[in-house]
Amino acid sequence: MTELTEFQRKIAEILPETALRFEEPLAKHTSFRIGGCAEVMAFPRKREELADILKKSALLDCKPVILGAGTNVLAPDEGVRGMVVCLKDCLDGMEQLDDTHIRVMAGVTMARAAVFAANLGLSGMEFAHGIPGTVGGGVYMNAGAYGGEIRQICQSVEVMDFDGTLRRLSNPEMQFSYRHSILEDRPGIVVSADFALEPGESQAIRAKMKELIGKRTASQPLDMPSAGSAFKRPAGGYAAALIEQAGMKGYRCGGAAISEKHAGFAVNLGNATAADVKNLLRQVSDRVFDRTGIRLEPEVRIW
Ligand SMILES: Cc1cc2nc3c(=O)[nH]c(=O)nc-3n(C[C@H](O)[C@H](O)[C@H](O)COP(=O)(O)OP(=O)(O)OC[C@H]3O[C@@H](n4cnc5c(N)ncnc54)[C@H](O)[C@@H]3O)c2cc1C
Repeated sequence: MTELTEFQRKIAEILPETALRFEEPLAKHTSFRIGGCAEVMAFPRKREELADILKKSALLDCKPVILGAGTNVLAPDEGVRGMVVCLKDCLDGMEQLDDTHIRVMAGVTMARAAVFAANLGLSGMEFAHGIPGTVGGGVYMNAGAYGGEIRQICQSVEVMDFDGTLRRLSNPEMQFSYRHSILEDRPGIVVSADFALEPGESQAIRAKMKELIGKRTASQPLDMPSAGSAFKRPAGGYAAALIEQAGMKGYRCGGAAISEKHAGFAVNLGNATAADVKNLLRQVSDRVFDRTGIRLEPEVRIW
């Protein structure tokens, strides 16, 4: 076994109860299957443990990077020095608050939250069922699909600042816009979210979710590693259509390519690096810009 770095040794000393992994490959935790190692990866089970991690890592001048299910992240080939805090399946739990409201912890996947709501006969989360991330990641970037968006159902969000302080932000305070929330401008960690839903028929809700999964399977390259839509939707158009019209379907850069099945997706053909994906996105964006004057912006968060 390789020797621990000084940072790893100190973190292990000050967080003896926390589940930690050292030199953990980010490729194992991202849907692109790309990324070097995190010097330290921490897995907090409760809010109190998350607060403890934040406070103690601050003593070592470390501000952790937050990871949900890693389905919208391009992690760097050289990895991350310092700490990544992984919340998927860690900050876990769901509860019904009243007839139409549920509270979901950030580490729960959207799929589980949608099924929980469906089982309670609550409608509104059907659109989110096929989005492969966590509720925390979905709230952070106002995930959406098939006409639905987190901002339509999110009543409030419990946010932890990087000093461990908790606050609750209302829907307007979250300043949701297309694939954006205030947490991108004023950093904070989603701990849980309250969703306001409507009474519905469980069977009809499940049928809707099944229909939407069918649409995804038919149109998206779900059998290949990707991070979903590579680019945000430009005003007045669709990224996929612009990329296809630019003749870039199937275009390759190293091990990364524009999907043959859906031109909006960049996929890892098996051995892509983050550099390959960045190169691909740059070239596609430039070619589309040269043809149309429209600049495509990455939707995937490039760390
Ligand atoms: C096949 C496929 C299909 C997809 N389809 C869709 C779709 O239809 N619609 C859509 O919107 N997206 C889609 N995505 C993208 C992705 O699933 C969503 O953006 C999702 O919301 C990301 O959640 P995550 O937990 O994976 O976040 P991550 O990828 O882990 O993180 C994304 C960003 O959010 C931050 N973050 C994560 N958790 C938290 C938290 N608790 N608090 C604060 N910040 C946090 C991270 O630091 C990072 O910057 C798709 C992805 C794939 C692979």
